[in-house]
Amino acid sequence: MEDMGGGGIIAVDLGGTRLRAALCAPDGTIHRRAEEETRDDGDAEAVLEQICTTAERVWPENGQVLAISISTPGSVDAATGVVLSAPNVPGWEDVPLRSVVQAHFDLPVFVGNDANLAAIAEHRFGAGRGVADMIYVTISTGIGGGILAGGQLLLGHRGFAGEIGHVVLQPDGPLCRCGNRGCLEALASGTAIGLQAQKLASSGRAPAILAAANGDVARISAESVGMAAAAGDSVALGLLEKAGHTIGIAIANLMHLLNPQMFVLGGGVTQSGELLFKPIRAAARRWAHNPAYFADTEIVAAALGNDVSLLGALALARSEVGME
Ligand SMILES: [Zn+2]
Repeated sequence: MEDMGGGGIIAVDLGGTRLRAALCAPDGTIHRRAEEETRDDGDAEAVLEQICTTAERVWPENGQVLAISISTPGSVDAATGVVLSAPNVPGWEDVPLRSVVQAHFDLPVFVGNDANLAAIAEHRFGAGRGVADMIYVTISTGIGGGILAGGQLLLGHRGFAGEIGHVVLQPDGPLCRCGNRGCLEALASGTAIGLQAQKLASSGRAPAILAAANGDVARISAESVGMAAAAGDSVALGLLEKAGHTIGIAIANLMHLLNPQMFVLGGGVTQSGELLFKPIRAAARRWAHNPAYFADTEIVAAALGNDVSLLGALALARSEVGME
């Protein structure tokens, strides 16, 4: 029997590769799940339909659904629920996500940027519980983030705030997929670390990383770098150190701008743990213009795993329907 205390919320996590849905009780208990590969043929309408059918797969047999809440990559217009663009999902551009799903189910539908929702999830259920001013940064294929100020997600004028990955640190640096140069994401994301390692390996300068990718340069990723670094390879350690240094500078900038109590860092690249956190903390300390900024600021690992976006979507719905 599904006890959902007056009604369940269906949380949906649209990712570049996986689409997941869960029937959640308001307290965060997940009662049913469904998961599929995200359609990647560039047809946004097919993905919209897939979101609806995946949500239907977790529908309760009896009991009420209060709302559907969706985590999506890309910039979300807070007023309209339109996703402006998401480089991870082909064709996912100017998509009226909220209105389409709302029309399909005739229920309240909430939509949020995936990194913003992960920030809310870490704040409500994870490493940032009880912390009023917290910044979440996810370092994986790309770099995203979310800012909690006074316990509330900072959305900004249109809802686009928190795009930490596109803070420019090196205007003449490598091209970012957003079109700018030298964004944090182009310098220190998993994709960037993988590309840097491929470059070194193709000129014979990263044998241990190449071995971690079974000798195939094209298969070198941030994960190969992480594996070689964990085994003590100095080239891999150098790449993590460089990425960590860059992330630390971005964090110093954010400390100056927002003075948070805590940074919560998640995403696949943070699996390298202290090998990445150490240079991040060192750079944040080095670039803080006054030691007081760093002294009281914690930089910690995210506590939630794969369910972070589902829990974030749930938290968004909870606050929108007045449950918290
Ligand atoms: Zn960018």
